[in-house]
Amino acid sequence: MFDYLIVGAGFAGSVLAERLAQADKKVLIIDKRNHIAGNAYDYYNKDGILIHKYGPHIFHTNSKDVFEYLSKFTDWNHYQHKVLASVDGQMVPMPINLNTINTLYGLNLNSDEVDHFFASKAEKVSQVKTSEDVVVGKVGRELYEKFFKGYTKKQWDLDPSELDASVTARVPTRTNKDNRYFTDTYQVMPSEGYTKMFEKMLDHPNIKIMLNTSYQEIVDEINFKKIIFTGPVDEYFNYCHGKLPYRSLEFKFETHDKETFQETGTINYPNDYAFTRITEFKYLTHQKHHKTSLVYEYPKAEGDPYYPIPQPENAALYKKYKAKAEQLKNTYFVGRLATYKYYNMDQVVAQALSTFKKIQNEESENTTEVIALKPAVTSFPNEEKVMVGIKGFANNFNNK
Ligand code: FAD
Ligand code: UDP
Repeated sequence: MFDYLIVGAGFAGSVLAERLAQADKKVLIIDKRNHIAGNAYDYYNKDGILIHKYGPHIFHTNSKDVFEYLSKFTDWNHYQHKVLASVDGQMVPMPINLNTINTLYGLNLNSDEVDHFFASKAEKVSQVKTSEDVVVGKVGRELYEKFFKGYTKKQWDLDPSELDASVTARVPTRTNKDNRYFTDTYQVMPSEGYTKMFEKMLDHPNIKIMLNTSYQEIVDEINFKKIIFTGPVDEYFNYCHGKLPYRSLEFKFETHDKETFQETGTINYPNDYAFTRITEFKYLTHQKHHKTSLVYEYPKAEGDPYYPIPQPENAALYKKYKAKAEQLKNTYFVGRLATYKYYNMDQVVAQALSTFKKIQNEESENTTEVIALKPAVTSFPNEEKVMVGIKGFANNFNNK
């Protein structure tokens, strides 16, 4: 009998498997794919270049706890991601900053002047609710149309006015010359890649791994006490309230017989082509190779669920699933798909670490209760009743 069945070997599942194994629990972790590491999976392609199977993954966090936790399983390379946007026939820094404006309009403004420039263009927005409000309220309609409207339409098949503010709010506007995509304290990449890091995380005698295995195939075949589910929450409940919408992507990879293809890690194409961006992996991984590999991202409706879609009606539908999830004992929903949150990797790690603490607290409460109940056993001859009296025990025993 396993103490835990963990469904999904991405960040959410693997962090919990590692923590629970360290706490002496027997864990079975399964994934329907043929590999661990979830969407962070990377591997060497046939030319020997390290690529990310599910699109570019750049690690960045402000959390010392998350960084220190992952550092137990990998060394790091420092990497500060820089993105250019192809706009009006020029390559300009994205997020929009002082350099972007000066290059785009052939100006020579300083920080104060660009601040005034933005203020003069910004539209009055009484309440910032949508992804359009965020941008037009800061930099005005012209820049919004050049950098955000087309990209967002491609990525989500929605106008920014139909998406929550949180989506475009991921990308700031700056009045300085900072060309970095992220400004987090820790901006690093695992020096041997993500998959190697996951291998170390899961390398523990208490962890058994089953790949090519879906939850549905084995749930009735395996004995376990508790379950951690990191797949789509609506799937877990057989879509009983209807399908939660997710956005998908198709990745097209290319390898070129030259050292470098483009001048930075990622180039965004907000207004041209069907793809949103091209990423050249060697910038991210620091690999030296005489060839170079790229990925093009083509957004689409069908396919693997990659992005929860932040809209009020979807949040309302997710709430219904969340309410069902909260009624289940010994069942935990963790990760981007299971909690329907547009989370980055570090946020998923933080969520998994805090779920582990919650589990530990619950277990120590149960233990305390068992001890507290002990004297009652003598005055309770019916063994079955005693077991039921111990909080969570009957449920722990067989979750199915
Ligand atoms: P996942 O990695 O999706 O893992 C869930 C696993 O569960 C999957 O392997 C799946 O196969 C398995 N599973 C699902 N259902 C079942 C089932 N029924 N039975 C068995 N197994 C099942 N984050 C960043 O911080 N930086 C980035 O640069 C970045 N770039 C990204 C780029 C793209 C294109 C995408 C899509 C995401 C990006 N992310 C990035 C987000 C990052 O991928 C996620 O935050 C992280 O991978 C989520 O981890 P997870 O464990 O919740 O989910
Ligand atoms: N976005 C945009 N233009 C850009 C970059 C981003 O309109 O050049 C918008 C778009 O809606 C995108 C969102 O901002 O989906 C978040 O961008 P991010 O780069 O964080 O997306 P991710 O890496 O998660 O796909």
